[in-house]
Amino acid sequence: MSEPTEIRSKPVKAKVRRTVLKAGGTLLISLFSPLPAFASQILAVRVWPSEDYTRVTLENDANLKTNHFIIKDPERLVVDVEGIDLNPTLKSLIAKIQPNDPYIKQVRVGQNRPGVVRLVFDLKEEVNPQVFTLAPVDKYQHRLVFDLYPVNPPDPIAALIEKGQWSLDKPDEPTMPPPVAEVKPPFAEPKPDRPPQVSRMLTIALDPGHGGEDPGAVGRGGSYEKHIVLSIAKRLKAKLEQHPNMRVMLTRDGDYFVPLHVRVQKARKVQADLFVSIHADAFVQPTANGSSVFALSEKGASSTAARWLANKENAADLIGGTNIKNHDKQLASVLLDLSTTAQINDSLRLGKAVLNEIGGVNRLHKNAVEQAGFAVLKAPDIPSILIETAFISNPEEEAKLNDNAYQDRMADAVAQGIRKYFAKNPPLAKSRMM
Ligand SMILES: [Zn+2]
Repeated sequence: MSEPTEIRSKPVKAKVRRTVLKAGGTLLISLFSPLPAFASQILAVRVWPSEDYTRVTLENDANLKTNHFIIKDPERLVVDVEGIDLNPTLKSLIAKIQPNDPYIKQVRVGQNRPGVVRLVFDLKEEVNPQVFTLAPVDKYQHRLVFDLYPVNPPDPIAALIEKGQWSLDKPDEPTMPPPVAEVKPPFAEPKPDRPPQVSRMLTIALDPGHGGEDPGAVGRGGSYEKHIVLSIAKRLKAKLEQHPNMRVMLTRDGDYFVPLHVRVQKARKVQADLFVSIHADAFVQPTANGSSVFALSEKGASSTAARWLANKENAADLIGGTNIKNHDKQLASVLLDLSTTAQINDSLRLGKAVLNEIGGVNRLHKNAVEQAGFAVLKAPDIPSILIETAFISNPEEEAKLNDNAYQDRMADAVAQGIRKYFAKNPPLAKSRMM
């Protein structure tokens, strides 16, 4: 998906606009109805198309009031934005709608009446629009967001099967966990508390951090964490799927934002056996370096740095932007409170297996799996880890993160860690809990 281009215009003081025309020697002064003193200016427009939903963001210097409605036959979303005037930045939205946008056919923008701009989105299918504002945060000023969700979202597994990205269980061919040469015996004796292993497909949820409005950390050389981690996750997916027993679901496969709890929900929908979140964050000191692996903690973080990082990651929803009113808050909190000691113990085992392998690729920031309250690691029934592949804030590591060979070696190491984890912890039969 191409990087949305951004056109920013300098905010200008709202003032009475006069158009002076000379016609036939007569001086005509047409005094357009003056804009109210608080008229605000559109500073940037961004479009983030994805199969999940298409987002349109208008960034502006004040909180904007809107009114929106749907018109049928053909399907259109009409949004009236109050307190702004049409400017070139807003007009540039028209050219930003890609022909392959899943939901928007085209957009029309016009001055509906003084101080009110009307946007008409011609839609490709029925959408459930969410129109909301976000207060200034990080590098962003006020944002007005239109999230267009399909009324009939495709079933996630059916969609993956259709794209040929989902291997089905083959009941006739009993399959085994992937062989790992270094582990003897190939499969650890089943632990007394675990039923005998079952041959089935192993599903791994890979979660490239950030995306869309949330760039993640940005290196001094200008690299975006969101792009690097998506690239590493895609490499890792390909490597894991070389094994006929493994299939991978990416929580995002393009440049768009996925709220943290939705990442967890996506993993649970496909009944993932593992959840692996991939990051490449910044730290306060540019000298900080090394890779780390994190698991959830039940009581407090394992270090101040781990707590700091978890807080920073958990702020992604504010920067990426979600419609809080729409959140199923109750569901989210139930999900967060259900996390169990067993999940954390499994996550620590998985984390250790991965940490051992990535130690051969990059210096380790710490020699043990760290723990903190990361929101994306809170699936109560899925061992979950978050990998900091390197610090993008460290110029040397930023260069590594941009290097294809490094990305490949990192993906290899994580894949190997996952294989070793499964070899030592054979998967159980799936309990259909959803
Ligand atoms: Zn991150």
